[in-house]
Amino acid sequence: MTRRKLLAGNWKMYKTVAEARQFAEQLGRRSTDLAAVSDYAVCPPFTALQTLRVILPTAVALGAQNVHPEANGAYTGEISVAMLAELGVSYVIVGHSERRALFDEGDEFVAQKVASVLQAGLIPILCVGENQAQRERGQAFEVVARQTQAALADVAGDALAGLVIAYEPVWAIGSGHTPTPVDAQQVISHIRSVVADSKGAAGAVSVRILYGGSVKPTNIDDFTHQPDIDGALVGGASLAADSFADMALAMNGRVRG
Ligand code: PEP
Repeated sequence: MTRRKLLAGNWKMYKTVAEARQFAEQLGRRSTDLAAVSDYAVCPPFTALQTLRVILPTAVALGAQNVHPEANGAYTGEISVAMLAELGVSYVIVGHSERRALFDEGDEFVAQKVASVLQAGLIPILCVGENQAQRERGQAFEVVARQTQAALADVAGDALAGLVIAYEPVWAIGSGHTPTPVDAQQVISHIRSVVADSKGAAGAVSVRILYGGSVKPTNIDDFTHQPDIDGALVGGASLAADSFADMALAMNGRVRG
C-alpha cells in the first residue's frame, strides 16, 4: 500500500491574523512547489483558522493544534470538534508533548480526544515521543508503545487509514538536535509493529507515521525517505512560507526550478 506523504506545520502560539495572511499570500506564490503527490497542512492558532480557510493555497489543508473531547459544555476556553469542522479544519494535533508537559494532559485524555476527532470525520495527528531522561534510560521504544496503545485504545483497526501518528522525541523539539534518520526509522517501525500487534496488520500498513523534531529544508528528505516515515510535523521551520515550500520540494525529491 502506498501511503501519501504529509507535511504538517505546527505554528504553536505564533502569528497574528495579519501575519498568517502574509504567510498564505507568500505560499500562494510558491503553489507550484506543492506537488499533488503529497498532502500539506498548516495548524495555526485558532484565531487564524477562519482567515486561512479562505486564502490558503488549495493544496494546503487546515489543521488545529488542540481540541476538547466533549461536544459542548462548561469548559471555559476550550474548543469542540464541531467548531473546528465548521471552520473547514481537516487535521487536529492531539497529545503534543507541550500539552502533555505544560498542561498536564495524560494518556486517557489524549485517547478521548483521538476518539472524538475520528468520530467527527477529522484526522487526528497523534503525537508520541520520549523525553531526554527516558531516552538516556533506553526507554524510547517502551514510551512510544505505551502512548500509542493508550491513545488508540478505542480506535478500530479499519479507522487507522484516517489517522496520523507523529513520532516527536521531546528532546528534538525546537532544540536543533535530531535522532539520526535510521534511529527515527527504527522507532517509527516499532510504533508500526505496536499498531500491528494491537489493531491488526492492515491498520498498521495504512496508518501514516510522521517524524517531528527540528526538521528543516536541509534535513527533511533524510527522514522522509526512510521506508516507514510518511512525512514530517514541523514547528519552527514551518513559520516561513519559503521554508515550508522548500520542505515540500525536498520531501517530494524535487529541487526549486
Ligand atoms: C513541533 O512543535 O511539533 C516541532 C516538531 O517543533 P520543531 O520543528 O520546531 O522542533
